[in-house]
Amino acid sequence: MVPGDNRDTQWKFALMDFMIWPTIHWFHTMLGHPGSHRMHATLQAQYHHPHLWIHIERFACEECQQAKPYLVLAMVHSLIGILLVLLGRKFQLI
Ligand SMILES: [Zn+2]
Repeated sequence: MVPGDNRDTQWKFALMDFMIWPTIHWFHTMLGHPGSHRMHATLQAQYHHPHLWIHIERFACEECQQAKPYLVLAMVHSLIGILLVLLGRKFQLI
């Protein structure tokens, strides 16, 4: 199934309650552990459940929880690198 262009008229699979968690878990793993906004955008394009957003928000991936501190450190490290590059360029111009 390929999602149509019109989000209001595109038919969707209705997710029954027992299918929500396995579907969220499968998409989360297959998409490379995205955040809740990307998960919701992907799932709501093809699936319908009245509380889809709530279930995605409550979904807690063990791998992501364990990796979170390292992700924050990686982001800080990247920002420091960017700042150093920008400062280096500024000093080269002077
Ligand atoms: Zn994850």
